[in-house]
Amino acid sequence: MKRGKRILVVCHCLLNANAKVVPLATCPGVCMEPLRASIEAGVGLVQLPCPETVAMGMRRFGMTKEQYEHAAFRRQCRAMLEPVLDQIQAFAAAGYEITGLVGVDGSPNCGVRTTCFGYEGGEISAPESNIPEQLANITFGPGQGVFMEELLAGLGARHIDVPLFAVEESNPEQLVAVDRRTS
Ligand code: SF4
Repeated sequence: MKRGKRILVVCHCLLNANAKVVPLATCPGVCMEPLRASIEAGVGLVQLPCPETVAMGMRRFGMTKEQYEHAAFRRQCRAMLEPVLDQIQAFAAAGYEITGLVGVDGSPNCGVRTTCFGYEGGEISAPESNIPEQLANITFGPGQGVFMEELLAGLGARHIDVPLFAVEESNPEQLVAVDRRTS
């Protein structure tokens, strides 16, 4: 039997940097470095959907967690995640090892340890929007992204416990193990 029966679940853009908001891609396609050890060890990869590309397409602006914090978007995340959670559950029930889940720190959706706060939106052409001030208020701080929160809740509801890992959105070279007690 050739299969390794080990699976790593990864955020979409780590296997397809083309999904990033323009111009945030840091590589042409696959972010090899954080995944290299798993790939070389024969671990299979399950790619999550990119919630932003699914919901907003490729002409979207960069947004913050406050902007994605909306019941309808969370519902959409849960709908996107259901078939993936079904797959993960099927693998786990069949005795496959889920070696981890890799998120993208800094993302308003896929952040594991940190996410992006601040800009609250509005009509950008209106003088009262005060875009420079809104841009200046963008911060990165502790917290999970919206999609990650829904994913972890979905895994929890199915009693699937997986190790968490993160890469940094602006420099996804290193894979960092995340202590769930502090994430
Ligand atoms: S971090 Fe998440 S939401 Fe952002 S581009 Fe990657 S997969 Fe999409």
